[in-house]
Amino acid sequence: MTEFSLTKSGSGEDAFLSVRDLKVHFPTQDGIVKATDGLSFSLERGKTLGIVGESGSGKSVSSSAILGLHSGSNAKISGEIILDGEDLLSLSEEEMRQRRGKDVAMIFQDPLSAMHPYYTVGNQIAEAYRVHNDVTKAAAKARAVEMLARVGIPQPDRRVDDYPHQFSGGMRQRAMIAMGLINDPGLLIADEPTTALDVTVQAQILDLLQDLQREFNSAVIIITHDLGVVAEMADDVLVMYAGRAVEYGPCKEILTHPEMPYTWGLLSSVPEVTGDTDAPLIPIPGNPPSLLNPPSGCAFHPRCPHRDKVADDLCKTELPELLPGGRGPGHTKRCHLANPDEIYQTEVLAEIAPDLVKES
Ligand code: SF4
Repeated sequence: MTEFSLTKSGSGEDAFLSVRDLKVHFPTQDGIVKATDGLSFSLERGKTLGIVGESGSGKSVSSSAILGLHSGSNAKISGEIILDGEDLLSLSEEEMRQRRGKDVAMIFQDPLSAMHPYYTVGNQIAEAYRVHNDVTKAAAKARAVEMLARVGIPQPDRRVDDYPHQFSGGMRQRAMIAMGLINDPGLLIADEPTTALDVTVQAQILDLLQDLQREFNSAVIIITHDLGVVAEMADDVLVMYAGRAVEYGPCKEILTHPEMPYTWGLLSSVPEVTGDTDAPLIPIPGNPPSLLNPPSGCAFHPRCPHRDKVADDLCKTELPELLPGGRGPGHTKRCHLANPDEIYQTEVLAEIAPDLVKES
């Protein structure tokens, strides 16, 4: 089934990044692992899309496909990934290598393992620049110093010669951001960029990413399991479960009027999103499903506390389509519930943030 979604940014036809019916399947001895199964979204320059979901929901696999990082694996990839008018899936490995770092760059969760321990931070940033620009080593190093200064590294002309282990966690992440942005890529993918950092440094890194996005006018995809990060950063949100989009739309709309019980579960486990930090943390029961043998119907049904509200056991037998929902344009959800907003307000919000219910 091909799915098509609108976002507040537009129809997706002329978006800077347009992903259409992306499938990333891994054949194994035991069957096909459908890590991403028919994902569609679009993104404009200067905008941020937050992709959220638990481990194994397909969010990182999908972004790796955008970067062409599955080429050495046995992954079967289909669909379209149109970046600035060019389908990345039609490019050769060499052509994709040329785009990587220049047109699309990635910031990883753990810069210590993403950076080479034997080379200085400056050397690695300068090399990222020299791969795509015909400049001398001295000019590339000068550019690395400039970028380190831009991301807030103190004494950048001295710290440029430090090794990664001589930087703190927050400084390493700043250095990774400098490396990611040094070629001014149109698209920046940040995969759990603050997970390994303490809360104060997390906030600084998110602020820095927002500042730089404005300055570079990049399109940013931020991948996270944390709706709190999304609330801070994203214009649009895509919630993934078992390799599929289950809710998608403008961030404010998704956070205030979510229509899919899995999104409710994510919201209930980060109450600061609702502004009530005293609210109880309510974990989602059960575990994410196997992608080799996912549950029938709605893949969330074994964990969903609301499935009994849908007649004829439809949740177990029929996969809901991603259909328009919510109040505003561009909000889509994959759920059989007939009155999700009412259930959210009266049952879910009443438990996690009763004051908000009284106000609304
Ligand atoms: Fe729950 Fe059914 Fe909606 Fe799936 S379709 S989220 S099981 S109510």
